Amino acid sequence: MRYINRAIFVKIKAYASLKMPRFINIIFFLFLSIFAFFEVEKTWAAGLDELDIVVIGGGLAGLTASREFQRNGQTYDLFEALDAFGGRAREGGGEWIESDHVTIQGLAKEHGVSLQTEPYDKPIRCNRNGTELSQVEMIPILKSTITKLSAAVSKGGFCTDEGKYKSLIDILPDLTSDENLLIRAFVTLDLGLPPEEIQASIVVDLKKDLGDFLTVLRCHSWGVSSWVLNQFAYQYRVKGGMNTLIEAMRKQLDEEKIHLNHELKRISKDEKGKFHLFFNTGNSELYEVRANAVITTIPFSVLRHIELDESLGLTDLHRNAIQTLTYGANGKIQTLETMPESFRYQLNTQPPSTLWNSVSGKGTTIFLGGSEGENLDENSARPLAESIFGRTIDTPIDVYNWFKNPFARGSYPARGLYNPSLDDPSKVLKGLRACTEPVDLFYFAGDHTLLENVGYMESAVQSGIVAAQDLCEKYRLRTS
Ligand SMILES: Cc1cc2nc3c(=O)[nH]c(=O)nc-3n(C[C@H](O)[C@H](O)[C@H](O)COP(=O)(O)OP(=O)(O)OC[C@H]3O[C@@H](n4cnc5c(N)ncnc54)[C@H](O)[C@@H]3O)c2cc1C
Repeated sequence: MRYINRAIFVKIKAYASLKMPRFINIIFFLFLSIFAFFEVEKTWAAGLDELDIVVIGGGLAGLTASREFQRNGQTYDLFEALDAFGGRAREGGGEWIESDHVTIQGLAKEHGVSLQTEPYDKPIRCNRNGTELSQVEMIPILKSTITKLSAAVSKGGFCTDEGKYKSLIDILPDLTSDENLLIRAFVTLDLGLPPEEIQASIVVDLKKDLGDFLTVLRCHSWGVSSWVLNQFAYQYRVKGGMNTLIEAMRKQLDEEKIHLNHELKRISKDEKGKFHLFFNTGNSELYEVRANAVITTIPFSVLRHIELDESLGLTDLHRNAIQTLTYGANGKIQTLETMPESFRYQLNTQPPSTLWNSVSGKGTTIFLGGSEGENLDENSARPLAESIFGRTIDTPIDVYNWFKNPFARGSYPARGLYNPSLDDPSKVLKGLRACTEPVDLFYFAGDHTLLENVGYMESAVQSGIVAAQDLCEKYRLRTS
């Protein structure tokens, strides 16, 4: 970066000519010129770095893509806006690893990071006019809700242009008041979105999630012990938290190839096919990098605020997806308080929250969705935690709000992609892929880009591998 610009140089020179004797003035001027010359050299070098493959975003997708390039002996450079890697999986973000999320489990193993098994033991608590529904009462409600959703999905009611339902809210009048209560509480908390924003394509996943809860409730009602339940219904968490895995992955990468505090602001492509990327590095001028190929892992909720030049050749589908993909608003409060046993996994409408033991083994995590997640801040967190615990909390608490984080702008993509032109059962999923297809050597990765496990850490790491492998192959063919 240039430390002495032309205006300052002229000002100092003018001051020197007025205030100093001629002899000192000449020496001073010569010294200043040499210094300025080296600075101009430095500006040129820093401003036009010629790179090979550039990965944007150092979350799980970006770290995994970089690891893939490193393993394949392919040159890469990874740029991250913040001063730490990990993105939404860092600290308060992603935590639970499903038993069938084998790619991320494999990554943990490869990096020598231990996973701890956790029961998939989530009895729902739900209030009806201030009275809590018992688990036994909830079973028929859940069952009939799932049956109605399944019927609507299989008839194409949620997907086609002619379909009766365009979003979850359209089916609510056809559900009983109890079914409404339960489904509203569930989506607001789990997806961080009100029913109005649950688009057709998400309902398929929702049905599956409700089915998982039903299984657990049934097991509880049959008196199946937690031990038995854990044998077939379990999840994992990284011992010590996700930061452990993120740090292990970072350590495997070449230190010179990873760049923190580089916020992408603009990207374009020249007639020779070179990408021009402009980063905010905290200085007054943007830092320019030129690259032969790019993988962006930036969530669409953030990418829509970055200047993507016409020269990139993005299709209308890409641009529509970047502008419209919905993201939930979940937040977390981590307290040092011990969670009362009776509080396990509550799903309350006032406020919507789920509680679990923090991964460190100390304290309780309060998971929030809907407006509680969206508005969560330092001021609201303590009274909210106190209202949930029903007592004053004097110990420190940590607050995480991903909706307000400028480099996430939401918790996770809402497991689907709303695009009216793709509202067709056969096209909805294909549509997601089409919206994130590479354009020549410009690739998309991240938890929003795969058909399966959208919005989970699993899709983030899978997408990093898929994009990097695909790009490596295409790039080698091109350059050989
Ligand atoms: C509260 C919460 C709870 C969750 N719970 C779970 C869970 O239990 N299980 C699960 O599997 N998943 C969960 N997730 C989702 C999971 O965290 C994500 O799916 C995953 O971390 C996404 O990784 P990614 O690399 O695709 O995106 P990100 O992690 O968002 O990575 C993108 C990176 O790009 C960077 N970036 C953004 N803008 C720029 C820019 N302009 N220039 C340069 N860099 C930029 C960001 O700082 C970030 O590091 C949760 C998420 C949240 C928020």
